[in-house]
Amino acid sequence: MKLQNVSVQSFGNLNSDKKAKGSGIKGGSLALLGAVGTNTALSAFSLGPINIIRKQAKNFTKGEIESMNRAADEILNNVTNLSKKGVRIFDYSDSRNLPLEVTDMAEKVPECFHDFIAILATKNGKNAYFSPKVSDNFKGTELENLLENVVGVNRQKAPNFIYHELGHAFNYHNTGTFKAIQKIRPLAMLFGAIMMVLPAFTKKSEAQDGKELTKAQKVKNFIREKSPFIAAASFVPIIAEEAMATIRGNKWAKELLSPDAFKKVRNGNLIALSTYVMTAVAMGLSAFAAKKIKDHFDNKAKTTQQA
Ligand SMILES: [Zn+2]
Repeated sequence: MKLQNVSVQSFGNLNSDKKAKGSGIKGGSLALLGAVGTNTALSAFSLGPINIIRKQAKNFTKGEIESMNRAADEILNNVTNLSKKGVRIFDYSDSRNLPLEVTDMAEKVPECFHDFIAILATKNGKNAYFSPKVSDNFKGTELENLLENVVGVNRQKAPNFIYHELGHAFNYHNTGTFKAIQKIRPLAMLFGAIMMVLPAFTKKSEAQDGKELTKAQKVKNFIREKSPFIAAASFVPIIAEEAMATIRGNKWAKELLSPDAFKKVRNGNLIALSTYVMTAVAMGLSAFAAKKIKDHFDNKAKTTQQA
């Protein structure tokens, strides 16, 4: 596995003693595995709630599916200004409407990976999205139709997802802060992931004999010490934006749907939101695991060196 080959030395492991150096590399690799392992294990937990939502959709009656779709169009066209802002709902339920790129991908990618690819999960009614802009790579292709200012959803299998996604569209077109959060979202996730593995690649700085810690060393130690908290906190803006999309979606759904259908929408949204909270917690705990493991090996190396 690639993880094993990560060189920890280049990230500032300065032990001169051979034994200690070996221990440093091992500690770093194990710490990294600890972070990734903890994260994977905890992510598996969030698949539980996601599966609940996915099963829930199967229990919708024909009438519910129709009324959920009607209400979604009403929100798009009349309740909000979203259709005036050019937002469209793209329906994945009729595969004849799908561009070749998507049907091709669905055929080539093994079924077990579909849930992890947003477009395929959406096609299968297991996810939905709001995409404000198509990336430059896809401009001029048929995918533009799916990704430029579009809520993508399988209207037959998962009409209950539309409200939350319209909430994202509303956040994007009508607010400054939440639009900004949507834009920094990939960066925030990357930053969180870096903070999660940071302790595996660094070690606690110690003052040279007779000297005090430099300011830079103090800052580095502080960031390293707080990395579990920082990793989790990097998700807070994302969770806030997700929560706002849900609050808006639920409000519209409550106004337009029967109490029973509304409850189904609300419960699904609540579970979906909880998976983001679980992700944040998982990131923090993973960084914590990485730090504990790496510190353990660094301390061991120090003892060996001193002996
Ligand atoms: Zn969302």
